[in-house]
Amino acid sequence: MNKLNAIIVGSGLAGLTAARILREHHDVKVYERGDSSTATGGQGIMIAPNGVKILEFIGYNQTLAGAVPILGFRTFGKDGTVKEDINVSLKHKFGADALTQKRAEFRNELIRLATAPSAELGIKGSPAQMVFNSPVVALDPEEGIISFKDGSTGSADVVIVADGVHSQLRKFVLGDDGYETGKTGLTCYQALDGLPLPHWWKPETCKNRLSLIYSGDESARFVTVYPFSHQTFFSLSCIAKVHPSSKTAVESWHTDADLDQLAELFSDFHEPLRRIINASREVKVWELRDLEPLPTWTRGRTIIIGDAAHVMTPMQGQGANMGIEDAESLRLLAPGTLRADVPGILKLTESVRKLRVEQVLSETRKAHCRLGVVERMARNWEFNSSYSGVEDALDAKRKDQAEP
Ligand SMILES: Cc1cc2nc3c(=O)[nH]c(=O)nc-3n(C[C@H](O)[C@H](O)[C@H](O)COP(=O)(O)OP(=O)(O)OC[C@H]3O[C@@H](n4cnc5c(N)ncnc54)[C@H](O)[C@@H]3O)c2cc1C
Repeated sequence: MNKLNAIIVGSGLAGLTAARILREHHDVKVYERGDSSTATGGQGIMIAPNGVKILEFIGYNQTLAGAVPILGFRTFGKDGTVKEDINVSLKHKFGADALTQKRAEFRNELIRLATAPSAELGIKGSPAQMVFNSPVVALDPEEGIISFKDGSTGSADVVIVADGVHSQLRKFVLGDDGYETGKTGLTCYQALDGLPLPHWWKPETCKNRLSLIYSGDESARFVTVYPFSHQTFFSLSCIAKVHPSSKTAVESWHTDADLDQLAELFSDFHEPLRRIINASREVKVWELRDLEPLPTWTRGRTIIIGDAAHVMTPMQGQGANMGIEDAESLRLLAPGTLRADVPGILKLTESVRKLRVEQVLSETRKAHCRLGVVERMARNWEFNSSYSGVEDALDAKRKDQAEP
């Protein structure tokens, strides 16, 4: 059966999932500018049922990733009183739990899925080939040719651009380098060090809840806490509107936060939380940005996926989920696909993915100016989590078009 040569640029969450999807029927090479330990920063990540369903289908091992299923949400006022304690069986409702994970452990498991021997995964095909320390600097999207700094090139039947939020290759597909992320007015602080466990988080009391602590006022400050690494560590993120005196106008994963500024920002929150913040030694800061919908994701034999194609804030926890869904949609490059058919299939893929991503972005933006993020998330759980892959989405689209 004919196999395509596929090049994936970027070994982030979207690129690695794409590598696992495509390796089953095609020859896959992943080019990554960093080394094998490269992982986007930040400590934790929550993958919602829509992403988890796809991951489970491709053999994701939750135990290897230290993943913790989220069985509900608990909200607190800034004085520490419990406002809501909601038990939700997402697995029962949507066919999969939401999982919280350490980013590095999540990525390691995706690397296993992309590169393990096929017999270990019980699939056909060959492992994806990983090429680290190889930044791609240019791209001919029509011909499927990538270029490196030393002038050497690589060519493929299909190129998947998954080089993240600061994509350098997006412009080659769009023919314009004017598409950049914009500020949202929100700043996120994330603690990276091992922290003392608050009593409301301990495994026996937290009941696998994701906890949110709100300021409950115009400042819209809130703190998110959830467990990962088999419940041995937890993620602490503090989000606030950009502080007027902020010098933290950055969007990288690697910028140290001003700890005094963070402590001051949350100084009116209850004492146990302040103690955790004060005990943190390594806190990173991001100015949260997002991206206006792009006019297209494809050109010739190239498609952009993941944050390279769409950037949204973590206010619904759907950014990486959208990248996983994009990657899964590449199964439309079915076994036996011919090189000549690739551009048409990529256009079809875009037609299913782009509208859904734009709706998720729009709902995420609405969550920026609301305090009730749980309420917003709950409102959108149905739409976000009931997604069951590209084939179903395509069927639904065909039915819609067939209806008078
Ligand atoms: C604070 C914060 C919290 C978040 N929390 C959540 C959450 O809980 N749930 C959720 O679903 N989403 C969350 N997100 C969003 C999520 O982090 C991103 O959507 C996701 O990491 C994007 O994955 P990606 O594979 O597209 O890009 P990345 O993970 O950024 O990967 C891109 C890769 O491409 C490589 N690369 C870049 N340029 C080149 C080049 N020229 N050549 C070769 N390689 C290159 C990079 O080194 C990197 O490995 C959060 C985001 C933020 C900022």
